[in-house]
Amino acid sequence: MDIIIGGGISGLSYALFKHSDDYLVLEKEAELGGYCRTTKRNNFVWDYSGHFFHFQDADIKHLIMESLCRQGEVVDVQKCTSIKYGELLVDFPFQKNIHQLPKDEFIDCLVDLFAAKPTDYNSFKEMLYCKFGKSIAEKFLIPYNEKLYACDLNKLDKDAMGRFFPYAEKEQIVLNFREADNTSYNGSFSYPKGGAIQYVNEIVHQLKAGNIRTNCQVVSINLKEKQVVMQSGEVLSYNHLISTIPFPQLLKMAGVAYDEQCYSWNQVLVFNLGFDRPGPNNSSHWLYFPDKQYSFYRVGFYNNILGNRNSSLYVELGFNKDADINPSEYLGTVLHDLVRSGCISSSQVLQDYQAIVMNPAYVHITEDSIKDVADKKAMLEQFGVYSIGRYGSWTYCSIEDNVKEARALAQQLNK
Ligand SMILES: Cc1cc2nc3c(=O)[nH]c(=O)nc-3n(C[C@H](O)[C@H](O)[C@H](O)COP(=O)(O)OP(=O)(O)OC[C@H]3O[C@@H](n4cnc5c(N)ncnc54)[C@H](O)[C@@H]3O)c2cc1C
Repeated sequence: MDIIIGGGISGLSYALFKHSDDYLVLEKEAELGGYCRTTKRNNFVWDYSGHFFHFQDADIKHLIMESLCRQGEVVDVQKCTSIKYGELLVDFPFQKNIHQLPKDEFIDCLVDLFAAKPTDYNSFKEMLYCKFGKSIAEKFLIPYNEKLYACDLNKLDKDAMGRFFPYAEKEQIVLNFREADNTSYNGSFSYPKGGAIQYVNEIVHQLKAGNIRTNCQVVSINLKEKQVVMQSGEVLSYNHLISTIPFPQLLKMAGVAYDEQCYSWNQVLVFNLGFDRPGPNNSSHWLYFPDKQYSFYRVGFYNNILGNRNSSLYVELGFNKDADINPSEYLGTVLHDLVRSGCISSSQVLQDYQAIVMNPAYVHITEDSIKDVADKKAMLEQFGVYSIGRYGSWTYCSIEDNVKEARALAQQLNK
């Protein structure tokens, strides 16, 4: 039997693509979905932070969205996002829209862009300077990413964001001055009206209920005996073990020694906020906040995505992995900053809210983490243990990437 640890999108997708019913999903929470869960309360629909779908693979799109689309359950949205820069709203990505800055700042950005030497760079921060020059790096790319990742950007691998980083060549930047082409990997996206959990439910409907257990936490793994031990004390044997939990937790549970310095990450505190009346912003899907005077780095507007009038926001704050976060300490500041930044008006009354700590949220991809994950994954595979998913592979990826990775592993093991 294949045992799958974790009932998030990765674990459930593996089960979906497995050719037989010989599997068991073990999920520690009462509800499936992992970070794709949704809260529905008081007419508000909130995810664990905004979760939007941008497909590249037609089969996966069909698999997950076909029936939802037929039922009219999905909205397709052309992304409208900006950066709050002083009093201005500058289109995202910053580097392609420097012509929207005041003239002196625009000139600084342009001159530095052309003076930049895209030679050798060894870290994410050096990459930002080398590719975009001092002004673009220091006005947006560095402060924004420092708020998000909550770490020294010199520690991150030069390609830490992979295809999710909006690279742009000088020629593209200049051409963008005349005719906007701000296309990106998520230039348009789909969103189910019932929240991200609807993606998950589309998969769960295709699985056998008896093969999924919730409230089942795995606490240790015996690699030699090929057994997992549950918190209840129950012991289960496996043929293959598919783990989707954060990689360092898997190593710990399996008794594999590792260097803790290789693994770091940020935590994201998400506030989902529902107000009694529409707010002043009726067009943005989300806004970026590089300025450290604001507590958050990003604010999203569910009402503008879904086209409804009730004002429903998600707000994201970045912390380092060791922070002891007490959400109630931040709510007042967040509301104050939302008014100051024009996201809400002072007459809007908070009707309901939810605070969620995503830990881990964004893993810090470093040269050491890339090497250690690859080495240890290869070692674990000798014991029939496979680690997949955003946290199982310790990477930066989308839901679609999770489904693809799970499908590839199932196809490999189905043989
Ligand atoms: C702030 C933020 C915004 C994002 N926005 C988007 C977006 O817009 N679009 C997009 O495509 N992707 C987005 N993502 C990425 C997306 O959330 C992930 O790629 C995806 O949810 C990961 O799914 P997973 O199954 O790999 O991991 P998880 O969702 O973490 O699932 C792992 C599961 O394992 C369970 N588990 C953990 N330990 C145990 C244990 N010991 N025993 C049993 N079960 C256990 C957990 O409870 C969880 O259910 C975002 C991520 C973040 C952090």
